[in-house]
Amino acid sequence: MNCIFCAIVNGDIPSKKVYEDEYCYAFLDIAPQAPVHCLVVPREHIGSADEITPDNACIVAEIFKAIPGIAKSLGLEGGYRIVSNIGEDGCQSVKHLHFHILGGKKLSENMA
Ligand code: AMP
Ligand code: ZN
Repeated sequence: MNCIFCAIVNGDIPSKKVYEDEYCYAFLDIAPQAPVHCLVVPREHIGSADEITPDNACIVAEIFKAIPGIAKSLGLEGGYRIVSNIGEDGCQSVKHLHFHILGGKKLSENMA
């Protein structure tokens, strides 16, 4: 499968690693939309949050368990936003589940 985030997880494409564990890999977004913009992806290919199932939901839970520590390491004591775009209407450009962690400033009240 030709998936850029699988290639990043496998080390075939370079990235600025923030965190990794058995379940997930976190790295800085190449085109940041906030002073801090990090992506957290499962090591296993899951197409989007719309493809979360009872079988893979434990991976998503592990990602959310890791996020507070990732946010702390990024200095996001003031708070942050987690975003996951899904499908065409959600403007998902990479078809491998990922959670954007955005922060480092007071974010917009608008989400859409
Ligand atoms: P989305 O539009 O929600 O699918 O988000 C995909 C994100 O991946 C965008 O914010 C891109 O800037 C980011 N991105 C694409 N390619 C890379 C890459 N090679 N390294 C880091 N971030 C990337
Ligand atoms: Zn993938």
